[in-house]
Amino acid sequence: MTLRGRLPHALLLAGPRGVGKVEMAQAWSKNLLCEHSSSDGEACGKCEACHWFLAGTHPDYMHLTLQEKETRDGDVKLATEISVEQARQAVDFVQLSTYRARRRVVLIEPAEALNTASANALLKVLEEPPINTVFILVSHQFRQLLPTILSRCHKLEIGLPDMSTMQAWLRENGLDERALAWVSGAPLAAMASQEAGELEIRQELLGALSETQNLNSIALAETLNKRVPARTWHQVSYKWLLDLLACRLGGKVGFNPDYETALQNLARRAKLENLLDFVRRESENGRWVDHPLNRQMVMETWLIEYSHIFEGAGK
Ligand SMILES: [Zn+2]
Repeated sequence: MTLRGRLPHALLLAGPRGVGKVEMAQAWSKNLLCEHSSSDGEACGKCEACHWFLAGTHPDYMHLTLQEKETRDGDVKLATEISVEQARQAVDFVQLSTYRARRRVVLIEPAEALNTASANALLKVLEEPPINTVFILVSHQFRQLLPTILSRCHKLEIGLPDMSTMQAWLRENGLDERALAWVSGAPLAAMASQEAGELEIRQELLGALSETQNLNSIALAETLNKRVPARTWHQVSYKWLLDLLACRLGGKVGFNPDYETALQNLARRAKLENLLDFVRRESENGRWVDHPLNRQMVMETWLIEYSHIFEGAGK
């Protein structure tokens, strides 16, 4: 898609995570800044502007996103909001004259991370941006955006490609098709997940969770704690619980179709109240991610609570 010509000054790319919105927004930004773009608006990849863009140093480009922050105990964590200070920097940035006297592009993602203060700080420039300035916002959950932001943007919804396109794409990229269900059908997320080795870890973990009769919580927590990153553990275990719940309620598995039989068998033995209660608590707290120090203990507790789902229920 080309963006030159009739260019809206604030564009919102909305759609599920992992379908390539950020990559698309970056490609557009590069196209807009290229000094020798082709007639259909593609960046040349060779000019100074293209080189700067790739090196992350283009003076007329700003990428407003979540910043890493150091916590008090020295860990590095990603902020959950785009701060008002960052928004003000963007406002100052668009009011400078452009370095190359061409365009200026500000990419904001994920836009739902703008809090009220940072969104308000941006309203005026979104409404009437200085000449030759383009804002590109990317949102995985655009319904969370303030109406004042939404109304100032031209919204483009990017959906999931159809199943056969995705499967072909996965095969071309040498990826496991299982990864797709795992990330709810978003191909770039599937790629990231496979690269992170999540599929292997998942297999090991799910093998253990399938065998509730022989589950040794203490030993398993000890092994897992050494091998599984906190975020992966949270993802894997939570999706497993959601599938278990879906089966218990008579539905189909969504995330782990390759474990359908094991899940259906477990679901028959699961006590609904216990399961619901567990899922509810899990969805409320990101405790795996937030308490790295007690991780082994947290995992152990999780495993014990997990085995309680199957206690006292029918055969
Ligand atoms: Zn170029």
